[in-house]
Amino acid sequence: MRNSLFFVFCLLFGNLYGQKLMILGTAQDAGKPQIACEKECCKAGSPEGKVVSLALLDPENMTWTLFEATPDIGEQLRMIPPGYPALPQSVALSHAHIGHYTGLMYFGREACNSANIPVLCGPRMANFLRTNGPWSQLEKLKNVKLNSVNAANNKPFISNKGEVGIYVFTVPHRDEFSETLGFIIRGKNKSALFIPDIDKWEKWDYDLVEVLAQVDYAFIDGTFFDGTELPGRNMNEIPHPFIVESMDYLKAIAPAEKAKVHFIHFNHTNPLWDPDSEASQKVLGAGFNIAREGLIFDL
Ligand SMILES: [Zn+2]
Ligand SMILES: [Zn+2]
Ligand SMILES: [Zn+2]
Repeated sequence: MRNSLFFVFCLLFGNLYGQKLMILGTAQDAGKPQIACEKECCKAGSPEGKVVSLALLDPENMTWTLFEATPDIGEQLRMIPPGYPALPQSVALSHAHIGHYTGLMYFGREACNSANIPVLCGPRMANFLRTNGPWSQLEKLKNVKLNSVNAANNKPFISNKGEVGIYVFTVPHRDEFSETLGFIIRGKNKSALFIPDIDKWEKWDYDLVEVLAQVDYAFIDGTFFDGTELPGRNMNEIPHPFIVESMDYLKAIAPAEKAKVHFIHFNHTNPLWDPDSEASQKVLGAGFNIAREGLIFDL
């Protein structure tokens, strides 16, 4: 399996029979309300949202894996259904932007002082955590155990005979401190694609249509609905696929394929926060879906 295009983490994550995927947050890194935003979107009474995160629940073994350690981790861990342990069995991190890893600090001595929680991440991410305080202390004090996987040559495809587990690959993104991972989370019956952050789809070496064809759900970057959220900025310069661009990119695929797509990672300005907005209706009307906090999907 060494030369396999995907790294299978079955051993690490154990038996994934009958798993479920729960949405713990849908916001872009800075959450909603966003600090210092005085616009309508973040006024009192407007919808609030925790930062993007998923939980892979294993009801057979009553264990779970956390995807992304966000600044909202304290509240998010309380969303886990009763019966599961308070702390995840393992954590998987996509990259070193604030919404995706800074929640790690709550595993440390000042907080729950966890014991050797395995953290799956890329090698640059592991190096970043090892060589910068306060993160370095988490490994020194054995709160976490960094398991880096070199995903640089992995392709976002799994064979039909692929085993249950977590498959990682890299995606193009602003990689100042770490590489950026995407995930395919494969359960016994179904699988899910998770790409919270990516530059334009055209910059990826792979075709989202083909990647989508092999999964049952896709939780993908929906940071901005369209250019009106960023007045005066050239849409082509924004390093995210706008939802309108993604819908256009996928316009020719079958309705069943479109229905797999659940946009996630919403900026505070995104009109999808409001389920009744014209934008939300447009997305649903075109046959796509919108990730919402608390939803649970069978894998
Ligand atoms: Zn992000
Ligand atoms: Zn706002
Ligand atoms: Zn990012």
